[in-house]
Amino acid sequence: MSLKSKRWLLFFVMHPGPLVLAFAIFPLAVITNSDTLAMLSGGLCCGGLHWLLLGFWPAWLLSRAILVQLCRTLKCPCCGFEFDAVGRWSVGDYTDHAERHILNARNPIDGGRIGHIACPKCDSTILVQ
Ligand SMILES: [Zn+2]
Repeated sequence: MSLKSKRWLLFFVMHPGPLVLAFAIFPLAVITNSDTLAMLSGGLCCGGLHWLLLGFWPAWLLSRAILVQLCRTLKCPCCGFEFDAVGRWSVGDYTDHAERHILNARNPIDGGRIGHIACPKCDSTILVQ
């Protein structure tokens, strides 16, 4: 699975997650007649609705921050070669002076990010963003 797919998956788990959890807990609260579960479901529903309406960009940025911590290596989909996701990356004609995770690499001139890279072993394209 590419980094791009992992980020979208993480986003779609995080963004509607609290609301989905609220709707999953509510039947349990009704079946067990539990006030605690009902209050939890109500709280998650209120918070999840606000998060769903206002949390699009925070969830999107949070998904990148979490993915940076979780994915420390990149794997070529063609040959399976694994290499470090932290390094000195080039974005356009700008080469970074410090080692960064590939998701955090950015061209300070035009704000561009790395969209794809070539596998160091087989030269296949690996999608990043
Ligand atoms: Zn490869």
